[in-house]
Amino acid sequence: MKGSKSSSKVKDQTPSSWSAEKSAQLYGIQEWGVNYFNISEQGEVITTVESNGKKVSVPLIKIVEGMKERGLDMPTVLRIENLLDQRIKALNDAFASAIKNADYKNHYRGVFPIKVNQQCHVIKEIARYGSHYHHGLEAGSKAELIIALSQLQNHESLIICNGYKDAAFVDLGLYARQMGIPCFFVLETPAELPIILARSKALEIEPLIGVRLKLASMVEGHWNEDSGDRSIFGLSTNALLTVIEQLKQANMLHCLQMLHSHLGSQIPNIRNIRSGVLEACQFYRGLIAEGAPMGYLDLGGGLAVDYEGSQSNSTHSMNYQLDEYCINIVETIQECFDPLGISHPVIVTESGRALVAYSSMLLFNILDVRDHKPGLLPESLPEGSHDLLQNLFSVLKTVKLNNIQECYNDSIYYRDEVRELFHRGQATLRERALAENINLAILDRIAELLPEAKRISHELEDLPELLSDIYYGNFSLFQSLPDIWALDQIFPVMPIHRLNEEPTRDAVIADMTCDCDGKIDHFSSPEGTVNTLKLHPLREHEEYYLGVFLVGAYQETLGDLHNLFGDTNVVSVHINEDGSFEFVREFHGDSIADVLSYVEYEPKEMQEQFRRIAERAVREGKITVAMRQKMLLAFRENLQGSTYFER
Ligand SMILES: *Cc1c(COP(=O)(O)O)cnc(C)c1O
Repeated sequence: MKGSKSSSKVKDQTPSSWSAEKSAQLYGIQEWGVNYFNISEQGEVITTVESNGKKVSVPLIKIVEGMKERGLDMPTVLRIENLLDQRIKALNDAFASAIKNADYKNHYRGVFPIKVNQQCHVIKEIARYGSHYHHGLEAGSKAELIIALSQLQNHESLIICNGYKDAAFVDLGLYARQMGIPCFFVLETPAELPIILARSKALEIEPLIGVRLKLASMVEGHWNEDSGDRSIFGLSTNALLTVIEQLKQANMLHCLQMLHSHLGSQIPNIRNIRSGVLEACQFYRGLIAEGAPMGYLDLGGGLAVDYEGSQSNSTHSMNYQLDEYCINIVETIQECFDPLGISHPVIVTESGRALVAYSSMLLFNILDVRDHKPGLLPESLPEGSHDLLQNLFSVLKTVKLNNIQECYNDSIYYRDEVRELFHRGQATLRERALAENINLAILDRIAELLPEAKRISHELEDLPELLSDIYYGNFSLFQSLPDIWALDQIFPVMPIHRLNEEPTRDAVIADMTCDCDGKIDHFSSPEGTVNTLKLHPLREHEEYYLGVFLVGAYQETLGDLHNLFGDTNVVSVHINEDGSFEFVREFHGDSIADVLSYVEYEPKEMQEQFRRIAERAVREGKITVAMRQKMLLAFRENLQGSTYFER
């Protein structure tokens, strides 16, 4: 702490019992952060990465300062390139070691599903760094195949084409084959096969074919629609037989070399993974028996991320480690195939989330706080106050541990009665305000007593949340964290500095859209999911920064333009072995003109229309010419400016 700029300030406000250590426990950073995130003695979130084989730690707040110097305002998505590389390495190393230890007689090939994060810089880095491991790409559409074909330089890396494929898609994939790129067409439906066969014949290029199977194994968790009979993807067993027949008739069964199954994303329970692999193995065996050569077993995605840090089989967690995942897959295949004398296939997985989640975080500042503390109350009520107010006031004087429920009921009752009077014009604005204020004071006292209460009702349980502060964050949930809104996803959220001060406020976080859905009010904690997050009181003239972590998967392209908040700034940082860092890529987010043009406004025309309005005002003597100029400038500057709050 010595020498740090704010040490004296921090000292005043820090009860000696608080520490960075306690913050670490409170926010669970060591559990969800794996070894990538932690808190320094200075109370700052640090990221620890490998750079040229050396471990280095950098405080995120330092990177934020670097952004500020470069004119990059909040909110910003920060990508740490080293973390992406480390995840690619971890996955490939874990499979390599499971394969070596089990004496498995084939290798692993990972493919990254582009849909999980399509951002150019992410894909380029996966292609560049992943080429050491022949890490390939999975494409679910023509656009994604075009990305894969242009970015992968290593011809041992696989390209897996899922999704519905038209003739143009198929042609592109066949040309890749001709150039020696291992590009598989995975059949989602039997209807795709005739197109593939026809184009293959026309171009005289043989395809590599895979079949995507609907597994009956069901999966717990959020995204389980991908598995089971009702899955909308994949071939039923019957459809598979049709495909085999058609291939045989076309004399192309030798092209069928891959079995593909995808149980779903974020599979929290290792048991489900094991049973899914086992079922896939049985299909694989069945296809061999039908005379297909096979050779590749693609197990799809599903490798989870422990967003909660609870290491459990809850939806947002996982009850296994990466090593265990790989060992389970390798061993299940061996156990199934060895007794049958089936040679070990190349193991393919399509891990998306587990590869990219860690490397991105959303950083934003807090603009304002609204607390629900009661205002100052008088010692006693004025003579002649309404009976209802008198009653309410006497409830306030009687709140005790043994009557909290009764006081709660009375308080709400009297407050509502006063509101009713107000409705009918029989109470004044001031009387209503006083009633609401006394009620708040009562609820506040009850909330203070709650931790000591033995049994509490549901209404009282919700009280701390109702009374919590609202921290207004400079971001849009719909743009930057769509899964929180759409899927009730939980991401770790915490301040990135001031962590050796005790956070004393209970808060929910609202975004800038002022939409009731635009808030974060579910947080993971050591006690499970809670509805409020502990935060620090704001300090005047000082920014307070929060980070939402593990957001590298699925968040960046699903976002929408709710209230026309556009893309945030995005910064990619590479950390060097001496702890310095470079901004390897900066993307300045949408301007207001950008988002307006997305919904088909013409910013030029809008300026012209505003100019005309201003000109008329000049003519009518409402403003001077000089004022007109000022207003036009403000209009133009706003168009070019950020959609978010600018300081
Ligand atoms: C979405 C998807 C994936 C990625 O799943 P993760 O759980 O993110 O690893 C893999 N394969 C297919 C076919 C997918 O649709």
